[in-house]
Amino acid sequence: MQHILPEIPILPFWAIAALFVFARYLVTAGGIYLIFYVWMQRKLGHLKIKPEAPGRRQVFAEMRHSFYTAVIFAGMATLVHVLKEFGYTRQYAEIETYGLGYLLFSMALLVVLHDAYFYWMHRLMHHLRLFRVIHKVHHQSFNPTPMASFSFHPLEAFLEFGIVPLIVLIIPVHPLAMLFFANWSMVFNILGHLGYELFPRGFVQHRFWGWMNTSTHHNLHHQQGNYNFGLYFNFWDRMMGTNHPQYAETFDQVKSHSQNYMHPAA
Ligand SMILES: [Zn+2]
Ligand SMILES: [Zn+2]
Repeated sequence: MQHILPEIPILPFWAIAALFVFARYLVTAGGIYLIFYVWMQRKLGHLKIKPEAPGRRQVFAEMRHSFYTAVIFAGMATLVHVLKEFGYTRQYAEIETYGLGYLLFSMALLVVLHDAYFYWMHRLMHHLRLFRVIHKVHHQSFNPTPMASFSFHPLEAFLEFGIVPLIVLIIPVHPLAMLFFANWSMVFNILGHLGYELFPRGFVQHRFWGWMNTSTHHNLHHQQGNYNFGLYFNFWDRMMGTNHPQYAETFDQVKSHSQNYMHPAA
């Protein structure tokens, strides 16, 4: 019997996926940008982390880099699709295969694994040479806006998405878990680059909520790149002693509308 391999229209799949990823970025990051930086800028000004507004040039550069990121992300999503069609991935279609409990567990697992993956990949990219070649593009935004959420060098985009092929090759994942993960990471990515602190006073010192990272946390990273490498949780930065020493203080200053901001290290 002849073995039939699936025929996959790779280029059209890639092109449609790239358009989808970029459109999703424009609608979500762009929508949040319009709310916070255009329509309600005055009303929400008291929540702004750095008082000055980012330049238009910076925002357009962020959008341009994000377009390249969409192309890379879509290329890797195409690769995942090809691997799936050839039966190499552990994705499954029926929730009953592993049960609802496993589905919920796998969602939490993806978030925890990504948090660790991101911290260490991010620290690696801050290594002097790698920073100059790859990560510098993202750090061109000293005063980031949501439009910086996908503003990466193409190699960084490749590394950022790199956890997805690894996951689908190793861990059984349902499309719902992937959908949850895609939205969770997008929401936190936009939040980290929002430039506005939405969480309430005392959040950072809170016994439970203090483990969640905030906009101020990542904003400080864009100001002083040698601290605050973490993504979702304040776990790895605490563990490795890389939390910004004035993180809680800065958060409180922002909350009390202080104009006293940290300045980038020399
Ligand atoms: Zn960033
Ligand atoms: Zn960085």
